[in-house]
Amino acid sequence: MSVVAEQIGGPGLEQVRRVRTEVPGPRSEELLRRQRSALPAGLGSSLPVFVTAAGGGVLVDADGNSFIDFGSGIAVTTVGNSAPRVVERASAQLDRFTHTCFLVNPYESYVEVCETLNRLAPVPGEKRTLLVNTGAEAVENAVKIARAATGRQGIVVFDHAYHGRTLLTMSMTAKNVPYKQGFGPFAAEVHRAPMAYPYRWPGGKERCAEEAADALVELLDRRLGAENVAAVVCEPVQGEGGFIVPPAGFLPAVAEICAARGILLIADEVQTGIARTGTLFACEHEGIRPDLLATAKGLGGGLPLGAVTGRAELLDAVPAGGLGGTFSGNPVACEAALGVFEEIERHDLVRRAGEIERIVLPALHAMAGRHEFVGDVRGRGAMLAVEIVRGGGDRTPDPARTAAISGRCHRDGLLTLTAGSYGNVLRFLPPLAISDALLKEGLDVLAGALAED
Ligand SMILES: *Cc1c(COP(=O)(O)O)cnc(C)c1O
Repeated sequence: MSVVAEQIGGPGLEQVRRVRTEVPGPRSEELLRRQRSALPAGLGSSLPVFVTAAGGGVLVDADGNSFIDFGSGIAVTTVGNSAPRVVERASAQLDRFTHTCFLVNPYESYVEVCETLNRLAPVPGEKRTLLVNTGAEAVENAVKIARAATGRQGIVVFDHAYHGRTLLTMSMTAKNVPYKQGFGPFAAEVHRAPMAYPYRWPGGKERCAEEAADALVELLDRRLGAENVAAVVCEPVQGEGGFIVPPAGFLPAVAEICAARGILLIADEVQTGIARTGTLFACEHEGIRPDLLATAKGLGGGLPLGAVTGRAELLDAVPAGGLGGTFSGNPVACEAALGVFEEIERHDLVRRAGEIERIVLPALHAMAGRHEFVGDVRGRGAMLAVEIVRGGGDRTPDPARTAAISGRCHRDGLLTLTAGSYGNVLRFLPPLAISDALLKEGLDVLAGALAED
């Protein structure tokens, strides 16, 4: 077990894979029956086992099964599910007070989280940070700020993008089923550019970066009029869209295209941010410096917290009372976030994400070599994925096979998630607190699940 996992793994929680019942087991089935009669059908679970304990690299369910965690929620418990500094700080805050509403009475931890993000985020110049509760709220506020600061209304997003489930962010999200179907009409002034998706670029991956940048210019200059566009919003590695890593050069080209036209660049780092990809923020891989940067998932160590960090003159362009919310920047969540940054620093978790990549990526490539239906292997740091296709030179997505593989992983005690516009991506988001041994065991389970096909 790595030092990291020993130190920040769940205290007292045995770091093992153990499946002693069907999945889901009888106790979970009983709870699922209650769920079905009390909760809406539209609320599904990837792996419907009811969790009773979690930490390090495992989730324990109500039937005593212990799953290896390759999900971290959805990229949320990056520092682990019970990281000591997060638990200590949040618990101590609960003893002091639960809430004041920052709009009524401020507290220091909110300011400290903002100072920390201002110090660390790859945004140029003097910075400001606004705290919110969720990723969608962070993206939505970034758009509000961009519109107020530029006096322009147009927002450009990409194919395969995912930005959330509120009206504006749902409108910005690319995929119809299940995120948009039946929920229209959608927000106006949201425009979509092709995403540089190397595996599926019609002109081939060599031409992908350049042709996708040209398509963005065409959209901005000829179809919209650049002077009408407030911001281009991009995920530096797309999340729900299928862990699409744009080819080298594409993001810098987007940044340059925006800068030349007075259009703001908003990086949606809700999934990629906070040590997930082997850098603190995924923008750093190609040295791009967005005007506004949205974070959430990994920020609060499992507690709900989101943030918009950006150039001071942009955030300050919104007059007093224009930003905020009742629960935004909850003091328990702020303390948890300070605990997250302490864990990252104490255990060098940015480096740990790189180590995880160096263990997982070669194993995934080996699997791709054995199975032609593993069409692509990609990702960064502890955000890695395989794309499942028909195989034999046919890149047609195979969502049924993807679901079957994921189901076998669950049966055998490995939590995996799926993603992708075509539902054919298996994505891996282990907590950085996972031990090497569990990581490798999880990969063995995956290899077995693929071999059964
Ligand atoms: C999850 C996600 C969101 C939405 O975050 P919520 O907290 O679910 O509102 C936005 N953008 C990206 C890139 C995400 O992965």
